[in-house]
Order: sequence, then C-alpha cells, then structure tokens
Amino acid sequence: MTAAASRVLVLNSGSSSVKYQLLDMRTLQRLATGLVERIGEEGARLVHTPLNGGAERERTGEFADHAAALRAVAEELSADGLGLDSPELAAIGHRVVHGGLSFTEPTVIDEEVLTEIERLVPLAPLHNPANLLGIRTARELRPDLPQVAVFDTAFHTTMPEYAARYALDAKTADAHRIRRYGFHGTSHAFVSRAAAALLGKDPGETNLIVLHLGNGASASAVRGGSCVDTSMGLTPLEGLVMGTRSGDIDPAVIFHLMRNAGMDAGEVDDLLNKRSGLIGLCGANDMREIQRRIEEGDAAARLAFEIYVHRLKKYLGAYYAVLGRVDAVVFTAGVGENAAPVREAALSGLEGLGLEVDAELNAVRSKEPRLISPAGARVAVAVVPTDEELEIAHQTYALVSAE
Ligand code: AMP
Repeated sequence: MTAAASRVLVLNSGSSSVKYQLLDMRTLQRLATGLVERIGEEGARLVHTPLNGGAERERTGEFADHAAALRAVAEELSADGLGLDSPELAAIGHRVVHGGLSFTEPTVIDEEVLTEIERLVPLAPLHNPANLLGIRTARELRPDLPQVAVFDTAFHTTMPEYAARYALDAKTADAHRIRRYGFHGTSHAFVSRAAAALLGKDPGETNLIVLHLGNGASASAVRGGSCVDTSMGLTPLEGLVMGTRSGDIDPAVIFHLMRNAGMDAGEVDDLLNKRSGLIGLCGANDMREIQRRIEEGDAAARLAFEIYVHRLKKYLGAYYAVLGRVDAVVFTAGVGENAAPVREAALSGLEGLGLEVDAELNAVRSKEPRLISPAGARVAVAVVPTDEELEIAHQTYALVSAE
C-alpha cells in the first residue's frame, strides 16, 4: 500500500448481484456507489452513482457473469477518474456471509483463506459461493492489491458456548458443525459502537440490545462491546419474524409438513425462507405497505404486525434478562430506522423495565443517530442508522494500514 492510498472499494457480491461503494477513508467521503443486478439473466443492468450524488448512469443487458459485471464496474469507476489501477486504491473489502468458527476477525485473503471460505459453503450454500465469485474476479482484476474478507458472523464469535450451542446430541452437532453462528454482525458491530458514542460512553462499559430490523431481522445482546447472544442461528432463519422468513418455529412443524402435506425438504426450506414471515401472513413484506393496509382496516396486516411486534418483545425481554443491566435498546435498518409505529409498539407496556418512548422524538425523521426516550429515562432508546459498507471499509482499511 502506498502512503497516498486511502481509498477502499467495498464489494457485496450476491448470487446474481454485486453492490459496491468506493470510499475515501481519510475524508470518509463516498466517491461512488452502484449496483449490478440480474447478472447472467435477461434485463441485467448496472446503475452507477458518481461522486457527490452526480447524475446516475445506467448500462443494461450485457453482464453474462460476475467477471463481466465487475469489469463494467471498473470501467464506470475509470470514467470518473477512480479506476481500480489508481495508486490511491488501498484495498478491496469483501462482505462474506459465513466465516464459521474459522474467522473471528477481518482477514487478508490468500489461497488458504479462499479454501476455508469454500469449506464453509455447506453452511451458507447460497451466499458463500457468490461471495467467492466476487473475490476471485476482483483478484483477477487486481492481483497485487490487498483484498480483505469481512464476515457477517465474526461479531458473534464472542458468544459463550451456552448461548451458541443447541441442546442437540453433541456428537451429531459437532460432526455437522451445527451451532448458532448469528448474522448481520457487521451491522451489529457498527451500530453498537455508534450507540455507545451517542450515549457518550465507552463501548467497553456499555450494555445494549440491538434490533436490526430490515427485510432480514436479528436482535443481539451486547455486553461491553462484545456479542453475548443473537437471534439468528445456524442460518439466518432463526429468531425474529422477517419480511419472508418465519423466524422461530417448533422444529416439529417441518416433520408435520413432510409427513402430512407431502412436502420435501426443499419445499419446506422454500416455505420457511421465502413464503413465510410478513409476506406469508398478509401478502406484503414491506412495512410501509403493511402500515397502509392497517389504516385501511386490513385484519391480516394487523395480525402480521402484532405477531412481528410480539416476537420483538419476547427477544427484548429475553436479552434484558441475559444482560441484567441495559444501557440502551437500539433500533436500526430499514424498519428499525423508519417505522416509528413498530418502535412504539415494541416498547409499549415496558415502563416497568425502564423502557419508554417519547412520541414526539419517535416521530422525528432523520439520518442521524438519535435518542427517542424521554429525558431521564432509566434505559435509553435510540435509533442508529446502520452503515455496513462503511464498517467493512473501516475494518479493511485498519487491517491493511497496520500491515
Ligand atoms: P433493509 O433490509 O434494511 O434495506 O430494510 C428494508 C425494509 O425496510 C423494507 O422491506 C421496508 O419494510 C422497510 N422500510 C423502509 N423504509 C420504511 C419506512 N419509511 N417505513 C416503514 N418501513 C420501511
């Protein structure tokens, strides 16, 4: 890395999409952002937004695979004078979904690391192969540049064994690496630090319940900056009610469906991951639409909202007990940052736990971290916008700067 190099390209590669952001870590400025979607499908397109929100550029119909998509991203960046060959580019940071127990920290990628991410594919069969494709393509484009993997699971590797293990036959669990890994870790890490800053406290002395409520949703209990429990498990299916995922259910529901509804494992997998949660309950997974429908008197939307909020409350209570002392409950991601009625409903009736929401503060719309609890509340309630790309860039830059 040259002394001048202060830029980090963050890549989030999905099975048919690549999201990217180029950040300058000295100024914390976002130099470009973009997305390639429907890679390898008809109607593939790249949308690139250059520096200072300049005019968006769009390219369509030409991305056969991830390599073609990333080449096009490199061309768009070059057109803005931000090419991958620039000496100012310090590193590429990759989001990798599953790091298992192997990766507890961001890691500079070499062949050995790639082999290990590959070995974890059975634990994340949809995500890790896509992440690997992105990494391999980026390494071909810039073989000499440090590339860093930042794992969604890493923040949760501090969970104690009693929180991470399922009460399953231990030999079977070990043989198949079955345990709770947790996900959204980059977001939980970023939001925990930002919430401690908002409270004016040292993260090492701050206990938090973080509620990441997006299309996927997870809660975590964070003691002194370290995760001690989280709601997602072996996969991102466990825990809260989500846009299309069921969250917690009795595992016997699966056998019941297989024995009585003639469904095979793949069909139940599809049902629980794609056709359950809010969309399964009321036909909509967007909280804005659900709120609109509730106002129109839609009973299914109302019940979906109530089930969503009830599950949130159960996790709040559980993590309150796990932590013993809570400094703040923190809401983040699409629903957590924007849906005031969800925040209000999740905390209603919890005054006995010191949890209250100030209606006026809760109604404020802002992109800034903010408190929504009344002054002097025993436990703070905060809204902290998440920024996973910035966190990946930070972790990547810190690692390559230290080398
Ligand atoms: P994320 O996965 O963090 O991008 O969150 C996406 C979800 O956030 C969407 O599916 C919506 O349900 C929700 N969302 C975004 N904006 C709003 C809003 N203004 N009010 C309620 N929910 C919102």
